[in-house]
Amino acid sequence: MISIGLDIGSVAAKGVLIQEGRHYQMMIPTSWSPRTAGEQLIDDLLQRSGHQHHDVHSIVVTGYGRVAVLEASRTVTEIKCHARGVAELYPQIRTIIDIGGQDSKVIQIDSQGRVVDFAMNDKCAAGTGRFLQVMANALGLDVSELADYENVEQAATINSMCTVFAESEIIGLLAQGVDKGSIIAGLHLSVGNRVAAMARRLGISGEVAFTGGVAMNQGVKRSLEQELGCAVLVPEVCQFTGALGAALIGLDVVA
Ligand code: ADP
Repeated sequence: MISIGLDIGSVAAKGVLIQEGRHYQMMIPTSWSPRTAGEQLIDDLLQRSGHQHHDVHSIVVTGYGRVAVLEASRTVTEIKCHARGVAELYPQIRTIIDIGGQDSKVIQIDSQGRVVDFAMNDKCAAGTGRFLQVMANALGLDVSELADYENVEQAATINSMCTVFAESEIIGLLAQGVDKGSIIAGLHLSVGNRVAAMARRLGISGEVAFTGGVAMNQGVKRSLEQELGCAVLVPEVCQFTGALGAALIGLDVVA
């Protein structure tokens, strides 16, 4: 049984192929064409695992670009896919925070990995990976380097929530001689604060799983732990959780 799960995100397209317990994963930039990204991921996953198109039983696609992928057996929301992925990785978890490129979500799940409730911020870039990418750019860094430079002891206060104003604010802080590390710590606090407030409004129970590309940022993880007062677990495959969930949903349906 071969199941492929694709998560065609705003920034990155992720794919997971599962074949009898073996997992293969790939990621490419979504770029300008979600459809091409989906096709390329399927071809790359098949090549890597040594299979042909006709061997595949199911292709479940999620993410903002999911409707563009013509080979999809079905499309499923990211919320359901993250829920399914986390239920597999951490059966004890009931609350998920997912921060991707263009939105952040809090998802409550039951013991079967079914979605009970969710909250989402998709109206503006504040509290998303895009916000951190814009700020990293203004600081002359790659988004993957932010956590390495942060100065937690002397976090600067970032007052602007809006990405455009926050970018001007940090340019102003740099001009005043505030060090990059303090600004970065302030940015992580700002993201953690905003997303934790959304999680508290929905209600959290026990530990929290943190998924999406932003979960790779240790500074945001720490800030969430500080704000929520509980452990935040980051799967090794945090950016692939949605694609993993999609592949597992494909197996559930075929089984
Ligand atoms: P989407 O599904 O919308 O494409 P992802 O879940 O793939 O989003 O996350 C993309 C975001 O992850 C980027 O906007 C960026 O902020 C963050 N990111 C990507 N790589 C890294 C990294 N190595 N370290 C920290 N953050 C990262």
